Amino acid sequence: MSYERDIPDPDGGRSAGPGGSAEDPEDGLIPCDSAEIKAQALQALALFEELAEPRALMMRIGRDEFAPIYQGLGRNDSPGPIERVYQQGRDMALFAATIGSQICVRIAELFRSNEFVKGNFLDAAASEGTDRISHLLENRFSSLLSHEHRIASNDMVLAYSPGYCGWHISAQKALFAALRPEQIGISLRDSFLMEPLKSISGVLVAGPAEIHRFEDVYPFCSTCRSQTCRIRAQLSARD
Ligand code: SF4
Repeated sequence: MSYERDIPDPDGGRSAGPGGSAEDPEDGLIPCDSAEIKAQALQALALFEELAEPRALMMRIGRDEFAPIYQGLGRNDSPGPIERVYQQGRDMALFAATIGSQICVRIAELFRSNEFVKGNFLDAAASEGTDRISHLLENRFSSLLSHEHRIASNDMVLAYSPGYCGWHISAQKALFAALRPEQIGISLRDSFLMEPLKSISGVLVAGPAEIHRFEDVYPFCSTCRSQTCRIRAQLSARD
């Protein structure tokens, strides 16, 4: 038996099941059927397999060409770590990737029809899938540089995206103007969010592992929920 907290019971507890109560009087936890949750997860994964349309685009760019893209509309927080990272990087490439629109449409349908458990599983799978494409691109760029003998054994390729670490999301406008992700079905909304929502864009930076190590000492770190600098620090320390 597993438990979820604070999930409203749609029928007021009448279907709590044999021997079960709708709510544990001790701690306010609501019992959930783990077999049913597992079934919903598997259905969501089957939907993911059926609907995923992964696409990606990558374009090499020089540091001088990238500088105005990083500056974007001039709304970045300064100082910020990404500026230091790319200035120390050896090679760079713009990238964009998406898991496709069909999954996003299905997620919205599931939430509209109150299928929240399956909807959340599919949403999580789509987010993870999108992230995985960016890691594939990191590996692809690393292989390309290796083939050209442009990468040292201590070098790493990591992705950075507008909207994180002080790089203002409005820089998407300049990034899209240079890369044209529309050719793989990604467009930019006026809010600078991408359509489909499960998309990712940014810059791949190749360089010594230590350039990717930075601490959460910036004023904007207090509102950061991703804390990806910690993962980057672990990755760059490991290699
Ligand atoms: S805490 Fe967040 S914003 Fe700050 S450096 Fe780390 S990842 Fe970037």
